[in-house]
Parts: sequence; structure tokens; C-alpha cells
Amino acid sequence: MRHAPTTAAPKVVLITGASSGIGEATARRLAAAGHHVVLGARRAERLAALAKEIEAGGGNALAHTLDVTDPLSTRSFVDAAHNRYGRVDVLVNNAGVMPLSRLDALRTEEWDRMIDVNLRGVLHGIAAVLPIMTAQGAGHIVNIASVSGLRVDPTAAVYSATKHAVRALSEGLRQESQDLRVTVISPGLTRSELTDTIGHQDTKDAVTGQMSIAIPAAAIGEAIHYAITQPAEVDVNELVIRPTAQG
Ligand code: NDP
Repeated sequence: MRHAPTTAAPKVVLITGASSGIGEATARRLAAAGHHVVLGARRAERLAALAKEIEAGGGNALAHTLDVTDPLSTRSFVDAAHNRYGRVDVLVNNAGVMPLSRLDALRTEEWDRMIDVNLRGVLHGIAAVLPIMTAQGAGHIVNIASVSGLRVDPTAAVYSATKHAVRALSEGLRQESQDLRVTVISPGLTRSELTDTIGHQDTKDAVTGQMSIAIPAAAIGEAIHYAITQPAEVDVNELVIRPTAQG
């Protein structure tokens, strides 16, 4: 399918975790609307294939390997986008992991990984784009939290803590700037590869069972498209998108 160009000016949109799930679906949606998408994740071959597909469809994409736990890698990702396009309009902080388990399972390395990717990773992204967006006098940071940022459930204590933290820092960032737009997107159960990151087998089985009602990742991409295409003076601060059947 050829991509129809957007009627508004194309935006330069950086997406972390673009190699699968919500990030990939968001890249497809925004590229189809004519925006320039910059794809970051660790699986370079997946990014390259997606960029190739977007370009073949008449879209514009740049793939760049990214590990959000590493501030230098994040800086290099943002610099690659800035060097190519001369500006950074939107950063979608989407990369995340969800190795759920009860706290008494003491899977402390997984706790650290969630903090490193889901929280520190978002901070690294903000740190890398903030000077550029401040100099531009405009920019939009979209942070992917979760309904787990609004509630807490057994096995999700640490994951929820990271997502509550993402909502908190998003609100602080929003209040600190008159020029930047800040959006928190909180998905409910969404089809993606996220449950692959659960190492605790009983927890994985339980969560996999719940995923039968999950909505497509494209539903979240649509919400991100809505948020970034509002007029400059309109800041969509929070969107919660979950399956109709989710309790
Ligand atoms: P996926 O597992 O499909 O995608 C996660 C993405 O994050 C992948 O592209 C992965 O790429 C990337 N990633 C993981 N670690 C790193 C890292 N260190 N550096 C860079 N990229 C990394 O899951 P989703 O699409 O579901 O997840 C996207 C976001 O949505 C996450 O923040 C998740 O918490 C959130 N979310 C998802 C929900 C769901 O039900 N699916 C519900 C609520 C929120 P790679 O491995 O190639 O690096």
C-alpha cells in the first residue's frame, strides 16, 4: 500500500522500542500519515526490515540501533535523527519490559531490568531530546506508561512502580515547560511480544491467559497519532486505551 502524504507538515518522530508491538505499529501508522519516523531498538535487523518496508511504501524512515539503558546509545540515536532531519519534533518513549513475578520470588535482576528500561530509559530519552526541543522552542514527548501506572496488582509491583514513576515524571516535565507538549499513553492489554519478557513460568501462564481479550497494537498507534496531530497549543496529557472487556 502506498502511503498518502499528510496534509500538515511532516513531523520528525523518534520511537524507542520500534522493533515490535506498539512501537512498530506506531511507526507504521505515523509513516502512513507522512511523518518521518526514526526507529530505535536493540534488534537491528528488525528495524532495518521495517524501515525498508516503510520506504518501499513511499514513507520515510531511519533505523538506528538503540539500547535505552545506555545514555550514550540514547544520545547517539537522537543525534542521528537530528543530523539527518535538522530537528526532533516528537519522542515516543515506548521501549519497555515486563518480567512479572511476585516480590517474594526475589527475582531482583528482573526488578533492576524493569527500572533500567522502563524508568531510566525514559529519563535517558528525555535528557537526550530536552536541549534540542528547548532550543527549538517546541517539542512533544510521548511516554508510554500502562494501566499498571494507574493501579497495582499482584506480580506487577515493580512493573507498576516503574509505570507510576513514568506518569509522575511526565507530570513534572509538563509543569516545567510552557513550550513542550507531554503526553502519557496508558495501554491496557495489547497484543505484542511483551509477555515474552516474563521469565517466571506460572506468572507467564496466567498473563498469557488474560491476553485473549487484548486489542491490536495499532489501537495504541492510533491514539499516539491523535495526540501528536492536535494544534500546537493543545496538549493531550493522558490517554487510557484498553480492551472493552478488560476489568
Ligand atoms: P514488545 O515486547 O512487543 O515491545 C517492546 C519493545 O521495547 C521492543 O521493540 C524491544 O526491542 C524494546 N526494548 C526492550 N528493551 C530495550 C532496550 N534496552 N533498549 C531499546 N529498546 C528496548 O511490547 P509492547 O509493544 O507491548 O511494549 C511497548 C510499551 O508498551 C512498553 O513500555 C510496555 O510496558 C507498554 N505497555 C504494553 C502493554 C501491553 O499489554 N502490551 C500494556 C501497557 C503498557 P528490542 O528487544 O529489539 O530492543
